[in-house]
Amino acid sequence: MGIFTAMRLKVLGSTSKGNCYILENKNEALIIEAGVSISRVRKALGGNLGKVAGCLISHSHNDHAGHMMMFAKAGISIYSSVPVFSSRRINKLRNRGILIEPGQAYFIGSFNIIPFEVNHDVPCLGFLITHPETGRIAFITDTCECDHIFRNIDHYMIECNYATDILDKNVTTGVIHPTLRKRIMVSHMELENCKSTLMDNDLEKARQIILLHLSDNNSCRVRFREEVSAVTGKDVFIAAKGSEICMLRDPAGRLQPGG
Ligand SMILES: [Zn+2]
Ligand SMILES: [Zn+2]
Repeated sequence: MGIFTAMRLKVLGSTSKGNCYILENKNEALIIEAGVSISRVRKALGGNLGKVAGCLISHSHNDHAGHMMMFAKAGISIYSSVPVFSSRRINKLRNRGILIEPGQAYFIGSFNIIPFEVNHDVPCLGFLITHPETGRIAFITDTCECDHIFRNIDHYMIECNYATDILDKNVTTGVIHPTLRKRIMVSHMELENCKSTLMDNDLEKARQIILLHLSDNNSCRVRFREEVSAVTGKDVFIAAKGSEICMLRDPAGRLQPGG
């Protein structure tokens, strides 16, 4: 039994090596992305897979959907789009695949979900997630831009993959191939774009901003956190493997560090 009973976010992975996030309170859990093994998920939940209400998957790339079949085999319902299900052998999902469409609202346990389209190199969904404890969470990853405007968001979870100057330096020094540079620029979120996306949105209610999917080569944690914090005036966290972040909506109910 952990000391936390209120909703928190557990980050099991947030890079191109594998993405998985768990929103968990005492009674239930919502998984976002199936990019790490089911054994790691089971361990993160203290062995209790029974509390999982479902798993959302944004798109078909392996770092997000690679372990989908094993999740389904373990009894977890998978909520995703046609391109994700057709990228895998859907008949093997054992009736665990539930189709979701942009602009429609769904309940997964007590979590209300509205998917929306983002701009990646394959079809990709972002999610507006609402829960009585957390308020509204905007989940936006693997997209070069986001033109949706959100209101009254309590927590932003947004990709901040690379900075153009770091990427260009890596091309010059031969760390990154020019072809890959092109692909990154049309499929992932750049630092300046992340900042302007946030500033275009309503940040008044926002309690925190969590930066996702930082590139191993083309990012800098300290700089990204400082720059996003400076421009937004909000608490900014980097989603790193093993991090746990309080997701309560109410300042009065906010957990103190250490308990
Ligand atoms: Zn990815
Ligand atoms: Zn991707």
